[in-house]
Amino acid sequence: MATRVQHALEQLKTTGVRITPQRHAILNYLMESMGHPTADEIYRALEPQFPSMSVATVYNNLKMFLEAGMVRELTYGDNSSRFDANVTDHYHVICDQCGKIEDFSYPSLKSVELQAASSTGFEVHGHRLEVYGVCKSCRDQ
Ligand code: ZN
Ligand code: MN
Repeated sequence: MATRVQHALEQLKTTGVRITPQRHAILNYLMESMGHPTADEIYRALEPQFPSMSVATVYNNLKMFLEAGMVRELTYGDNSSRFDANVTDHYHVICDQCGKIEDFSYPSLKSVELQAASSTGFEVHGHRLEVYGVCKSCRDQ
């Protein structure tokens, strides 16, 4: 089966990156889960499969995926960067109780960027929007 992961790995190969089993597993975890895990969460999830893999290996691979534009990093100012394999335009809703981050789509707020640029004179590069609340599974408890 030609999965998104295989397609992405083929693309990496064309840039001369060697596809190691760890690399495959990290990318697969990111893409299949469609969650927004931290490097540590990825490490813990794959540790049983790759007992000799270090957290540093996970970090280095994530950095490489970032540079290749295959993954996005979400920073929260507390060293707990989260990684997102969905690189299409989308927004996030975050659970105040469990921290879960879910994707949702909404028309891009380009007009907000234009307004910010015209009223401040900034050269605007982008924006970030997050919606907060309590997820369904937390409410069901
Ligand atoms: Zn929750
Ligand atoms: Mn996302």
